[in-house]
Amino acid sequence: MQSNVISFKIDHSKLKPGLYLHEVRDYGTNYVTTYDFRFKKPNSGEYLTPCQAHTIEHVMATFFTGKFKDKIYWGPMGCFTGFYLVLNGKHDVKEILDSLDDCEVFWKELLESSNVPAKNPYRCGNYKLLDIREGYKAWSEYYQKRTEWGSEYPIIDNCPPDDNYQCDIDYDLKLK
Ligand SMILES: [Zn+2]
Repeated sequence: MQSNVISFKIDHSKLKPGLYLHEVRDYGTNYVTTYDFRFKKPNSGEYLTPCQAHTIEHVMATFFTGKFKDKIYWGPMGCFTGFYLVLNGKHDVKEILDSLDDCEVFWKELLESSNVPAKNPYRCGNYKLLDIREGYKAWSEYYQKRTEWGSEYPIIDNCPPDDNYQCDIDYDLKLK
Protein backbone atom coordinates (compact mmCIF):
# COMPACT_ATOMS: atom_id res chain seq x y z
CA MET A 1 0.00 0.00 0.00
CA GLN A 2 1.46 3.33 -1.04
CA SER A 3 0.79 6.49 0.88
CA ASN A 4 1.05 10.07 -0.25
CA VAL A 5 1.04 11.70 3.17
CA ILE A 6 0.94 15.46 2.98
CA SER A 7 0.26 16.09 6.62
CA PHE A 8 2.75 14.03 8.57
CA LYS A 9 4.72 17.03 9.73
CA ILE A 10 2.08 19.70 10.30
CA ASP A 11 3.27 22.51 12.55
CA HIS A 12 0.23 23.03 14.76
CA SER A 13 1.82 26.14 16.29
CA LYS A 14 1.42 27.87 12.92
CA LEU A 15 -1.80 26.27 11.72
CA LYS A 16 -4.69 28.66 11.31
CA PRO A 17 -8.38 28.12 10.59
CA GLY A 18 -8.88 26.93 7.04
CA LEU A 19 -9.55 24.08 4.69
CA TYR A 20 -6.57 21.80 4.05
CA LEU A 21 -5.92 18.77 1.92
CA HIS A 22 -4.85 16.36 4.63
CA GLU A 23 -4.03 13.22 2.69
CA VAL A 24 -4.52 11.43 -0.61
CA ARG A 25 -3.94 7.75 -0.02
CA ASP A 26 -3.50 5.19 -2.75
CA TYR A 27 -5.15 1.89 -1.85
CA GLY A 28 -4.18 0.27 -5.12
CA THR A 29 -7.70 -0.06 -6.47
CA ASN A 30 -8.80 3.40 -5.39
CA TYR A 31 -7.70 6.66 -3.77
CA VAL A 32 -9.10 8.05 -0.54
CA THR A 33 -8.93 11.81 0.01
CA THR A 34 -9.10 13.44 3.44
CA TYR A 35 -9.77 17.13 4.06
CA ASP A 36 -9.05 19.00 7.28
CA PHE A 37 -11.73 21.55 8.13
CA ARG A 38 -9.84 23.51 10.76
CA PHE A 39 -12.38 25.63 12.63
CA LYS A 40 -10.11 26.88 15.42
CA LYS A 41 -6.46 27.83 15.71
CA PRO A 42 -4.84 24.96 17.66
CA ASN A 43 -3.82 25.57 21.28
CA SER A 44 -5.30 29.05 21.23
CA GLY A 45 -7.52 28.47 24.25
CA GLU A 46 -10.60 28.73 22.05
CA TYR A 47 -12.14 25.40 21.10
CA LEU A 48 -15.38 23.95 19.87
CA THR A 49 -17.61 22.93 22.76
CA PRO A 50 -18.65 19.25 22.83
CA CYS A 51 -22.19 20.36 21.97
CA GLN A 52 -20.98 22.38 18.98
CA ALA A 53 -18.72 19.59 17.71
CA HIS A 54 -21.55 17.07 18.09
CA THR A 55 -24.14 19.27 16.37
CA ILE A 56 -21.80 20.10 13.48
CA GLU A 57 -21.04 16.39 13.19
CA HIS A 58 -24.74 15.58 12.72
CA VAL A 59 -25.57 18.49 10.42
CA MET A 60 -22.60 18.25 8.11
CA ALA A 61 -22.49 14.45 7.99
CA THR A 62 -26.07 14.70 6.72
CA PHE A 63 -25.16 17.44 4.26
CA PHE A 64 -22.07 15.76 2.82
CA THR A 65 -23.84 12.40 2.56
CA GLY A 66 -26.44 14.07 0.36
CA LYS A 67 -23.95 16.20 -1.55
CA PHE A 68 -21.14 13.75 -2.37
CA LYS A 69 -21.82 10.19 -3.43
CA ASP A 70 -18.15 9.52 -2.61
CA LYS A 71 -18.44 10.58 1.03
CA ILE A 72 -16.98 8.03 3.42
CA TYR A 73 -16.84 9.93 6.70
CA TRP A 74 -17.28 13.30 8.38
CA GLY A 75 -16.38 13.67 12.02
CA PRO A 76 -14.78 15.82 14.73
CA MET A 77 -11.15 15.85 15.84
CA GLY A 78 -10.59 14.88 19.45
CA CYS A 79 -8.81 18.21 20.08
CA PHE A 80 -12.05 20.11 19.29
CA THR A 81 -10.39 22.34 16.70
CA GLY A 82 -11.90 20.88 13.54
CA PHE A 83 -13.26 18.00 11.48
CA TYR A 84 -12.15 15.52 8.86
CA LEU A 85 -14.03 14.88 5.64
CA VAL A 86 -13.06 11.59 3.98
CA LEU A 87 -14.04 10.94 0.37
CA ASN A 88 -13.52 8.00 -1.91
CA GLY A 89 -11.47 8.90 -4.99
CA LYS A 90 -9.41 11.95 -5.89
CA HIS A 91 -11.07 15.33 -5.42
CA ASP A 92 -10.32 18.97 -6.09
CA VAL A 93 -10.60 21.31 -3.13
CA LYS A 94 -12.64 23.65 -5.34
CA GLU A 95 -15.35 21.02 -5.46
CA ILE A 96 -15.50 21.11 -1.66
CA LEU A 97 -15.37 24.91 -1.43
CA ASP A 98 -18.13 25.23 -4.04
CA SER A 99 -20.40 23.02 -1.97
CA LEU A 100 -20.25 25.19 1.13
CA ASP A 101 -22.82 27.77 0.05
CA ASP A 102 -25.33 24.92 -0.15
CA CYS A 103 -24.18 23.84 3.29
CA GLU A 104 -24.93 27.31 4.64
CA VAL A 105 -28.43 27.10 3.12
CA PHE A 106 -28.93 23.74 4.81
CA TRP A 107 -27.89 25.23 8.18
CA LYS A 108 -30.37 28.09 7.72
CA GLU A 109 -33.21 25.68 6.99
CA LEU A 110 -32.40 23.72 10.12
CA LEU A 111 -32.21 26.91 12.18
CA GLU A 112 -35.66 27.88 11.04
CA SER A 113 -37.11 24.56 12.06
CA SER A 114 -34.89 24.31 15.20
CA ASN A 115 -34.07 20.81 14.06
CA VAL A 116 -30.90 18.71 14.26
CA PRO A 117 -30.83 15.59 12.05
CA ALA A 118 -31.09 12.35 14.03
CA LYS A 119 -31.67 14.10 17.35
CA ASN A 120 -33.34 11.20 19.04
CA PRO A 121 -32.33 8.36 21.36
CA TYR A 122 -32.62 5.73 18.61
CA ARG A 123 -30.29 7.45 16.15
CA CYS A 124 -27.71 9.04 18.46
CA GLY A 125 -25.66 8.09 21.54
CA ASN A 126 -26.05 11.44 23.33
CA TYR A 127 -29.01 13.11 21.68
CA LYS A 128 -29.54 15.80 24.31
CA LEU A 129 -26.05 17.14 23.57
CA LEU A 130 -27.26 18.77 20.35
CA ASP A 131 -28.25 22.38 19.78
CA ILE A 132 -28.74 23.86 16.33
CA ARG A 133 -28.05 27.43 17.46
CA GLU A 134 -24.84 26.51 19.25
CA GLY A 135 -23.64 24.47 16.27
CA TYR A 136 -24.49 27.19 13.80
CA LYS A 137 -22.64 29.77 15.88
CA ALA A 138 -19.37 27.84 15.48
CA TRP A 139 -19.99 27.00 11.81
CA SER A 140 -20.89 30.59 11.02
CA GLU A 141 -17.82 32.06 12.76
CA TYR A 142 -15.68 29.71 10.67
CA TYR A 143 -17.54 30.11 7.40
CA GLN A 144 -17.76 33.94 7.54
CA LYS A 145 -13.97 34.11 7.57
CA ARG A 146 -13.45 31.84 4.56
CA THR A 147 -11.58 34.51 2.59
CA GLU A 148 -8.90 34.39 5.32
CA TRP A 149 -8.68 30.59 5.50
CA GLY A 150 -5.35 28.83 5.32
CA SER A 151 -5.03 26.27 2.53
CA GLU A 152 -1.49 24.89 2.86
CA TYR A 153 -0.24 23.10 5.92
CA PRO A 154 2.72 24.72 7.68
CA ILE A 155 5.36 22.00 7.92
CA ILE A 156 7.93 21.36 10.64
CA ASP A 157 10.62 18.63 10.57
CA ASN A 158 11.31 18.30 14.25
CA CYS A 159 9.48 19.46 17.32
CA PRO A 160 11.74 21.99 19.18
CA PRO A 161 12.93 20.57 22.55
CA ASP A 162 11.00 21.82 25.56
CA ASP A 163 10.72 20.62 29.16
CA ASN A 164 6.96 21.06 29.14
CA TYR A 165 6.08 18.36 26.64
CA GLN A 166 7.35 15.23 24.92
CA CYS A 167 8.90 15.77 21.53
CA ASP A 168 8.76 13.52 18.50
CA ILE A 169 8.19 10.18 20.18
CA ASP A 170 8.18 7.17 17.89
CA TYR A 171 6.04 4.47 19.39
CA ASP A 172 7.09 0.90 18.87
CA LEU A 173 3.79 -0.94 18.88
CA LYS A 174 5.26 -4.44 18.77
CA LEU A 175 2.32 -5.66 16.74
CA LYS A 176 2.06 -9.38 15.95
ZN1 LIG B 1 -24.97 12.01 17.91
